[in-house]
Amino acid sequence: MTAAPVVVSAFRNGILCRCPSCGRGPLFDGYLKVAARCSACGLALSHHDSGDGPAVFVVFIVGAVVVGAALVTEMQWSPPIWVHMILWVTLSVVLALALLQPFKGVLIALKFKHDAGQAWRELD
Ligand SMILES: [Zn+2]
Repeated sequence: MTAAPVVVSAFRNGILCRCPSCGRGPLFDGYLKVAARCSACGLALSHHDSGDGPAVFVVFIVGAVVVGAALVTEMQWSPPIWVHMILWVTLSVVLALALLQPFKGVLIALKFKHDAGQAWRELD
């Protein structure tokens, strides 16, 4: 059995919110809190901070999707304003909550893969 390419593995581990090293243990302890250690391989995870990166990506993606969908809806059907309010506020919240965790997982996995920051070696 051949191993998957490292880049694919980093994205897979991130999207699945798994340990960036072994891909088995959960990355998060809760919704967005990074676990102290990987339960499978013991890698110290708690010092990994992806900063505002995931939120920025999610804001840009959700904003583009919601604004595009609102424009198309208005041009096609011209619903009352309360329909827009309910649809797009709900969609924004649901998409943001659904995308934050995998985006944070991918950024942490890519940080691990590219050895960004010496914290991995110094604090383990
Ligand atoms: Zn692990």
